[in-house]
Amino acid sequence: MRGSGKTTVAKILAKKLNTQYFELDEILVKKMNMNISQIVKKYGWDFFRDKESEIIQQISDRQNLVISTGGGVVTRPQNIEALKRNGLLIFLNASVQILSKRIGEKIGHDPKMPALTNKKNSQAEIAYIFKQREKLYKQAADQIIETDGKTLNQLADLIISKIKDSKICIVIGDPIKHSLSPKMHNAGYKALGIDNHFSFTSQRVTKENLKSILEQAKTSNIKGVSVTVPHKETIMKYLDKIEKNARNIGAVNTIVNYNGKLTGFNTDWTGAITALEKKTNLKGKKVAIIGAGGAARAIIYGLKKKGSLVKIFNRSLDHAEILAKEFDCGYSDLDSLSQVRNMDIIINATPVGMDKDKSPVNKEFINKNHVVLDVVYSPKKTRLIKDSLEKGAKVIFGYEMLLYQGVAQFELYTGTKAPVDIMRQTLEKN
Ligand code: NAP
Repeated sequence: MRGSGKTTVAKILAKKLNTQYFELDEILVKKMNMNISQIVKKYGWDFFRDKESEIIQQISDRQNLVISTGGGVVTRPQNIEALKRNGLLIFLNASVQILSKRIGEKIGHDPKMPALTNKKNSQAEIAYIFKQREKLYKQAADQIIETDGKTLNQLADLIISKIKDSKICIVIGDPIKHSLSPKMHNAGYKALGIDNHFSFTSQRVTKENLKSILEQAKTSNIKGVSVTVPHKETIMKYLDKIEKNARNIGAVNTIVNYNGKLTGFNTDWTGAITALEKKTNLKGKKVAIIGAGGAARAIIYGLKKKGSLVKIFNRSLDHAEILAKEFDCGYSDLDSLSQVRNMDIIINATPVGMDKDKSPVNKEFINKNHVVLDVVYSPKKTRLIKDSLEKGAKVIFGYEMLLYQGVAQFELYTGTKAPVDIMRQTLEKN
């Protein structure tokens, strides 16, 4: 809110943290070569908000900076999503009386503060806007800092201590924008009332900066690192310890920071197995798995542990052969997929179905006795899932695997039982 001290506090904070500082309004003013009042007068508030959103999208992927935003940023969900993707949102809260005292009669008179409403004076506008936005601010915030009675310097120190006290979890990968993990984990923290201590963000990490992000994690308050494509295998060499299952699978999707020592886990296999076991027993079942990449490897590991009889079908026969030898399974190419007719479970562990309405399995090979798991979770109803439903098979959506691998991560990071239903609802909504 105007008058909360956000601009000055952000400047002090950046100085104390020895990092860069950005003020969204200042960037826009420089870009347009006009003050805020002139921009709004000439182009209107919608234009202003559009430009503000553009700047947010441009800078929100950058690291190690303090951003001070105008209060209206919160009115557009895509702004909050972008800012949270890679950062922590701090709401400087103040009472309407204090805000009014600090602002005086500046609204509508100071070129930096054009009026947002037709209210008769600053105080009436502040009260009105605060009432409109308070809920949004509180919902969006990772940390709420009460400012009444505190100096700006004290506020910056308080933010630093809150950041230090809080535990951060991140998902890293390249690309990463579409990861659903932050939403799923943050909904879980909120449901348990631990969102003041835990927050989950995402960060695009390339191969080149993989090592440095882990070095940084060791000495910071990063508690957990979720790992996705393409780092699950390469990341292993940077870890202090690797748990037995992850070592056997040869991939890590979860890292826990135990006082500066990083331990790698794999929860993809438990995610898939838990999702499958909600629908079927696995012992002695004939399973066709399509794909021989990282996801297939983790799932096959779990299936073998459960006593399933696995056959791999893959586009590249040599990749299938390597995996089959390692896990003692059958293997074949995709031309032999008619064999799935006589099997119990079909699992798609390829990205087929993600971009196009295409299934890796001919619909004619599927029947009502099958249990079908598609690891692709976006779209939710892939062609394979739709065909399987039409044939009367039992289906397991890709988001169920995503959910249970996330549940296992949640419990490793927080040491607390995960609120599974809330996390599921978040995935179903997105
Ligand atoms: P990966 O290591 O790159 O392996 C991809 C596999 O798919 C390979 O066997 C590849 O065959 C096959 N493949 C790729 N494109 C194909 C095509 N057009 N036709 C036929 N086969 C094709 O990838 P991954 O890490 O295993 O991930 C696979 C999928 O699982 C991704 O979509 C990923 O998002 C998803 N996933 C989901 C979850 C979840 O929780 N639901 C978890 C992990 C992964 P070749 O051997 O011939 O190259």
